[in-house]
Amino acid sequence: TDTLFCWCRAGFEPELAAELTERAALAGHPGYARAERGNGYVEFKVEDAAALSRALPFDRLVFARQKLVRLADLHSLDPTDRITPILAALETLRGQGDIAEGQERFGDLWMEHPDSDTGKPLAGLARSFGNALRPALRKAGWLTPKDDPRRPRLHVVFLGGHHVVLATSNPRDSAPWPLGIPRLRMHPDAPSRSALKLEEALLTLLDDKERELLLRDNMQAADLGASPGGWSWVLVRHGMLVTAVDNGPMREQLLESGRVEHVRADGFQWQPRRRVDWMVCDMVEQPRRVADRMATWFREDWCKYAVFNLKLPMKKRWEETRICLEAFELQTHRPMVIRARQLFHDREEITVFAMPQR
Ligand code: SAM
Repeated sequence: TDTLFCWCRAGFEPELAAELTERAALAGHPGYARAERGNGYVEFKVEDAAALSRALPFDRLVFARQKLVRLADLHSLDPTDRITPILAALETLRGQGDIAEGQERFGDLWMEHPDSDTGKPLAGLARSFGNALRPALRKAGWLTPKDDPRRPRLHVVFLGGHHVVLATSNPRDSAPWPLGIPRLRMHPDAPSRSALKLEEALLTLLDDKERELLLRDNMQAADLGASPGGWSWVLVRHGMLVTAVDNGPMREQLLESGRVEHVRADGFQWQPRRRVDWMVCDMVEQPRRVADRMATWFREDWCKYAVFNLKLPMKKRWEETRICLEAFELQTHRPMVIRARQLFHDREEITVFAMPQR
């Protein structure tokens, strides 16, 4: 198979295309991207897509919501029977050795469609067709009787009523949600929708063990650009004590918790008296300036862990991302763990988790 298939935020196809092109070449798997703005996905052509997929771990990609290896591209499907050609395509793949021996049973079936204006209306079709396809795949031996996360997933992607892509992913190296979208619900007490961004960041940029170890009762946190308090509220829900730095107002109810101290100051000037556990930053500012300030926090050892946003209103957003992340790492003057991603709840921005390497 010669195509990597990645979901992304609609409108950010050029960013993902640029990221994949650059990183694939660096990893020794040069290729080229096919992308159309607004489609919500990028296809990347390369000699060996499975090898490229292994060389580009999902958790290192910034603009990909999901990473799949495309198995087949089925055009002009007859709506009265899409199952027969899908089963036939799988047989052909097995015959060609594109589905390796011992791998011909998928552990799960995900029905997907682009998260785009033209893709969203396909959700119902994908779901109902999945209900028909699943037993047919089981009967033909392509799908385990019960979900098995140790085996590759089969993704059946509707790009149109007549156009289906078959793809596969490794559950250990991919997003654990269909379309790469975590379903988070806004809590009625949250002071702003931004709360979802930090929640998603902690869910996707940390693993289970890190969440347990790094998010603990009575930890000290600083929140730069905190108004009206969505991020501070998330930190308080994790039991932390928060210094909220912003000239703007904080939600009264949050201050009444007694766990948030509001400091009216410039987030680029303010520094903690003692090292805090967490620093988070959602200040709307030039990304290079934010990256710079974030590096200072680690260089000066003012925090142990950080989550910060880099706003990307400019054109060359992949280039800007790379420049900011490189500058950040360089200026911390220490080896760092850096994980960056455009989250589902991020619009024109990306979110970064950082901590010094141990
Ligand atoms: N994270 C907040 C939440 O969850 O409710 C939302 C933050 S909002 C997107 C950006 C905030 O950054 C604004 O409240 C603004 O006042 C603040 N800000 C921008 N520049 C700042 C600076 N230099 N110092 C402190 N705050 C700043």
